Amino acid sequence: MAEIDGATLIVRSLKQHGVEHMFGVVGFPVVPIAFAAQREGIRYLGFRNEQSASYAAGAVGYLTGRPAACLCVSGPGMIHGIAGASNAWSNAWPMILLGGANDSFQNGMGAFQEAPQVEAARPFVKYAARPDSVERVPYYVEQAVRSSIYGRPGATYLDLPNDIIVGQADEDAVEWCPPCADPPRSQADPAAIERALEVLKGSERPLVIVGKGSAYARAEDEVRQFIEATKLPFLPSPMGKGVVPDDHPLSVASARSDALKGADAILLLGARLNWILHFGKPPRFRPDVKIIQLDIHPEEIGTNIPAEVGLVGDAKAIVGQLNAALEAKPWSYASETPWRAELAEAAASNKAAVLAMEQDHSAPLGYYRVLAEIRDQVPRDALLVCEGSNTMDISRTVLPNYGARERLDAGTFGTMGVGLGFAIAAAVVHPDRKVVCVEGDSAFGFSGMEVETACRYQLPITFVIVNNNGIAGGVDDFDRDRVPPTVYTPKARYEKMIEGFGGKGYYAETSEELALALKEALAQKVPTIVNVMIDPKAARKPQKFEWLTR
Ligand code: ADP
Repeated sequence: MAEIDGATLIVRSLKQHGVEHMFGVVGFPVVPIAFAAQREGIRYLGFRNEQSASYAAGAVGYLTGRPAACLCVSGPGMIHGIAGASNAWSNAWPMILLGGANDSFQNGMGAFQEAPQVEAARPFVKYAARPDSVERVPYYVEQAVRSSIYGRPGATYLDLPNDIIVGQADEDAVEWCPPCADPPRSQADPAAIERALEVLKGSERPLVIVGKGSAYARAEDEVRQFIEATKLPFLPSPMGKGVVPDDHPLSVASARSDALKGADAILLLGARLNWILHFGKPPRFRPDVKIIQLDIHPEEIGTNIPAEVGLVGDAKAIVGQLNAALEAKPWSYASETPWRAELAEAAASNKAAVLAMEQDHSAPLGYYRVLAEIRDQVPRDALLVCEGSNTMDISRTVLPNYGARERLDAGTFGTMGVGLGFAIAAAVVHPDRKVVCVEGDSAFGFSGMEVETACRYQLPITFVIVNNNGIAGGVDDFDRDRVPPTVYTPKARYEKMIEGFGGKGYYAETSEELALALKEALAQKVPTIVNVMIDPKAARKPQKFEWLTR
């Protein structure tokens, strides 16, 4: 009678359902799971903190459409892993958090690192469970995988007591599940498709907003076909960038505020009307704007303002339906209208204001010069990870994306500290492409130790630290007995860290130094840090509205 242990069952089941990556930090009781992963052909990467490992797992889910697993020890490790589960919950990305737990026969006794883990995970996950026997482990793994990708994607949690991990089962008694298929791509009601097109045809000032739901759905071909057939002006959300290339002539991203404020009908393709889109309300939107809302999650339709039309289902399938309807009855928005002219004028004036700052080579440098240099040097198909407050916001306008799922940032949760985990995930998923991780110095500090992870696994990521000595701007010097809350060590030499692990570091203060440092860093086969000092008082271009609509 052959026996199989719980750790092998967990990993073999994950692998069977298409889980290819596991990130984590090992210790009691999960060590056997990490070794089983390596044995069974799941790529395991050991991180320095569960937070980053869990952020990386969410990013793999977004980039590939299949969840990755984040492996955490019991108690504190699992609690740290909730960071990534909550980020995935907020972004609607799939991932599986695996939390080791004390032996179940010690429950309630004050066992080592005993904690209410299932309860702690619950608010942030679509599914949280603890297998009740070794034999039934595959059943729970299948539920965790399927729940993470069916419907609105999200995190799931499996609580794994030591006695399940090291426990044995008779192989014949194991209940295996067939591989979990990709989620069905559900279509919208055909009447709603007709109605959506009618609303667009009746609009004088239409707009399409492309969100990361379209990117997740891999709807880039359909969305691009739709935009080109209808000639509708569009703008992407931060991570919707690249679904249609940012240099597409119909993009009105440079006139974002004017486009949102002036549109009388908006087709939302997988984007929520949350804080990122100012809730769809005045003063950022017209009070009478008609929203045509496409989302896989029926409860999302009508959130914050009633939808004129709800298109419930998968973005790839539904935009395909819109395209089919347009092929049967072609229509496009007129090429010369006052709305187009208004948007073109706003875009031109915004571009001119930004151009002047991009071309300002004087030291100390500003954000726009630094980001423009990065833009001019990175390969067209690079994956760009951007975080930090101003660094991230300005990068959205200065750093273009030409393909879907090529930008990762702080996202819906506005999580700072995600960048290094995201960059590692991107490098693992796309070993053939360059990953450039642009970080504010504050954002970098949350998980800077993960540069050791990048070095250990030979992931040639280029980290660029846009260093302003603090949170939203530090100072050059201060009284050490009264350290201001916003400052970090002035001119900190972050690039020296990576040298200790086998990477290469560069430091720049001038435009010329930056250009040279970037050129060398991007050519390296090892991970690199380019630490570029900017003016601690450097700022964004003046905005028409505060960044947070209240
Ligand atoms: P953004 O940050 O780009 O504005 P959000 O994260 O707010 O985007 O919204 C993305 C939306 O996309 C979510 O409401 C989610 O339910 C939805 N979504 C996820 N997957 C799909 C899919 N396959 N098809 C359609 N919508 C999807």
